Amino acid sequence: SAGRIVVVGGGFGGATCARALKRADAKLQITLIEPNRTFISCPFSNEVIAGLRDMEAQQFGYDKLAAEGISVVAQAATTIDTQKRSVTAADGEAFGYDRLVLSPGIDFHVEALPGYDDAASEKMPHAWKAGPQTLLLRRQLEAMADGGTVAIAIPANPSRCPPAPYERASLIAHYLKTTKPRSKVLILDAKDAFSQQRLFERAWKELYGDMIERVALSQGGRVTSVDAASKTIVTEFGNYTPDVANVIPPQRAGRIAEIAGAADATGWCPIDPVTFESKLVKDIHVIGDACLGGGIPKSASAASAQGKACAAAIIALLAGRTPEAPRLTGVCYTTVAPGYGFSLAGNYQPKGDIFAEVEGGATSPVDAPRELRTREAAEAEHWFQTITADCFG
Ligand code: FAD
Repeated sequence: SAGRIVVVGGGFGGATCARALKRADAKLQITLIEPNRTFISCPFSNEVIAGLRDMEAQQFGYDKLAAEGISVVAQAATTIDTQKRSVTAADGEAFGYDRLVLSPGIDFHVEALPGYDDAASEKMPHAWKAGPQTLLLRRQLEAMADGGTVAIAIPANPSRCPPAPYERASLIAHYLKTTKPRSKVLILDAKDAFSQQRLFERAWKELYGDMIERVALSQGGRVTSVDAASKTIVTEFGNYTPDVANVIPPQRAGRIAEIAGAADATGWCPIDPVTFESKLVKDIHVIGDACLGGGIPKSASAASAQGKACAAAIIALLAGRTPEAPRLTGVCYTTVAPGYGFSLAGNYQPKGDIFAEVEGGATSPVDAPRELRTREAAEAEHWFQTITADCFG
């Protein structure tokens, strides 16, 4: 039968794709391979770090997907045989496929940041995959004395959720302002310009005075190595030994994409943006953070939209039809303090080998009454409810 589809990764991209496939054709045999029985959401995890939200609100299970007839396998995929078209899980069980969807998210590019390995992340948490790392960074902030410095090292793009490091800086500043007001947030940035910069800088000035200091790329802000034993961050400009070091390393596609042969020298996966088919391996589709999306930012919104579009393309391909070029929409909300949010909405279409932004997008105005910021903070919460219901039921 030509109806066996395996999805690897049950996050925003994979869970949405699996459900969309099953909904489009109940006869399809859909297997979702995901090691964690509980998914922990990165969106809104900055609120957890700042003490504004409980971790429980970030957690989602797969019961609904199983009830819909998706076979959920609580294992990691470890190898992929692209000739035999088979995925093997950590426990040795093999799953044959007609089409394979990979949505493994990111892994860290450790070679690009000397000194930063798993052991280092226990001292200098990245908190860029939500879970124990999120809580570790929270505990470190709680343990810090008033007057301390929290450094946030931010990598260059492409990386997961470009505005999220600045949202984190904002919400940490909120926590410090309300509990340890003599403290500082130091941003060490491998970029000069960043997403929604004017909105952030306006909000920082308004809400946090000079609490947040940013060293940009051209000022030597790029982190070149770390030393976990002495908690030192080395930049092009000099060394820093902050009280709390949140080091967000450079990233690449989740390791299983590389094992499949779907990642190129950039570390990401080139795709045909109409079908999400890998440019490197047959019968494999890559969605979410792992794919080379071009102009579309790596976000939960994008991953979920790609999951639906990829499902539609697979349905068309199985039926022998030509898939239609998708139009993807994504909206990214940022919260810089409770009741103070802004957003960036975009539309994207295939152009050559990537997605390009097309007309119809919008960014919140820089000059806006406080009611708009309050409304957008509430809309952010609504967005979260909607997208997680879409993915996990
Ligand atoms: P993920 O959601 O990470 O899912 C990948 C899944 O694959 C994981 O469950 C993992 O366990 C699984 N997996 C990996 N390897 C294997 C394997 N070998 N076998 C089986 N399973 C595997 N986006 C927004 O749109 N809005 C926001 O407000 C927002 N805020 C963010 C805040 C922070 C602090 C961060 C870090 C990110 C934020 N994002 C936000 C981005 C968002 O989290 C990601 O873009 C999104 O999760 C990408 O979806 P994905 O499916 O590609 O990967």
